[in-house]
Amino acid sequence: MSYTPLPPALNPPVRTLLGPGPSDTHPRVLAAMAKPTVGHLDPYYLQLMDGMQQMLRAVFQTQNRMTFAVSATGSAGMEAAVVNVIEPGDPMVVCVNGVFGGRMADVAARAGANVTKIELAWGEVFAPADVKDALAKAKPKVVGIVLAETSTGAWQPIEEIAALVRDAGAMLVVDAVTALGGLPVEMDRWGVDVIYSGSQKCLSCPPGLAPISFSDRALEMILARKSKVQSWYLDVTMLAQYWGSDRVYHHTAPINMTYGLYEALRLVLEEGLENCFVRHRRNHLALKAGLAALGIGYTAQEGHQLPMLNAVRVPEGVDDAKVRGELLSRFGIEIGGGLGAFKGKVWRIGLMGYGSRPANVLLFLSALEQLLAEQGYKFEHGASIAAANAAYSRGKNGES
Ligand SMILES: *Cc1c(COP(=O)(O)O)cnc(C)c1O
Repeated sequence: MSYTPLPPALNPPVRTLLGPGPSDTHPRVLAAMAKPTVGHLDPYYLQLMDGMQQMLRAVFQTQNRMTFAVSATGSAGMEAAVVNVIEPGDPMVVCVNGVFGGRMADVAARAGANVTKIELAWGEVFAPADVKDALAKAKPKVVGIVLAETSTGAWQPIEEIAALVRDAGAMLVVDAVTALGGLPVEMDRWGVDVIYSGSQKCLSCPPGLAPISFSDRALEMILARKSKVQSWYLDVTMLAQYWGSDRVYHHTAPINMTYGLYEALRLVLEEGLENCFVRHRRNHLALKAGLAALGIGYTAQEGHQLPMLNAVRVPEGVDDAKVRGELLSRFGIEIGGGLGAFKGKVWRIGLMGYGSRPANVLLFLSALEQLLAEQGYKFEHGASIAAANAAYSRGKNGES
């Protein structure tokens, strides 16, 4: 029997992805993904896994043996982190100041944790004192926090909170999905027990893999569990036998996704972590200067604004959906709208990984000016481009 009509051949449009993820895939990553598929136990593949683990340790800044990639997106990284360290009834404190903290609390409750949420207004960041109180009251086994909250653009300092959590004898789980590859993530120096990320934010790779790392302390605790890990697929004790020297089949690894992430990590390390962070910051400052010239401000607290995710207020009288729709239809540019409390009020402009380039900053600002002018929004035409260029030349003179 023939199948008619056959749906059309695949022909995705070329976009400029300046939203909260996925970000543009680097051409070298796309090329890597088109290489021949090998078996998941092929000696060639095993060698790639070793190389990938080494590179993941470098980007997470850790020596942890159990550093690998979960075969699924960032949310599976979150689930893997939580379900392995939580047993039913365990107290867990989750810091919630946006969508992803909220998601972690939901994941933890489903895993059977006795969850205490500490909540802040969206756009704010937690101070050590906020966490100190919760540690004293809830006596948690695990504390969860988001380093780069993609829904609000807030950059959460981790170091002091990590020290408090450690002193209280609890374990710290950190969401570094948007952070990794765009700002410093120092797992060992901070003393983080479990950290996870995703391939499609600042790593310039398509969605599909979730880098993760467990400290030896976390692994010991997992091995001493009284109950089995609730998820078969995400059980790190079983995954350890595939990623470790035993190479026991667990599930069929997504081979070509691994090629992609492997090349993506090579790109980050070839550029150098520090250079990568400087580039993200430079493009962020140029965009910020450009937006300021249009009277557009950020939602996150000053001093805690993420370099890779610019969450800004939609100006008064401007139609949010129309601007985003026309950026896409007329300019091929995707940006994100607001989530939850920020729906209709916030634009989320991502400058992530390969997408964090001066060409994208200038393209976006020009297109935005055109659309704002059409909506009758009052501003000095060309001012955002001039301001962004001025920020770039300041950056060249050593100021950043
Ligand atoms: C994107 C994101 C996630 C979820 O990742 P998916 O790949 O969409 O499953 C989790 N946490 C943060 C902070 C994110 O930005």
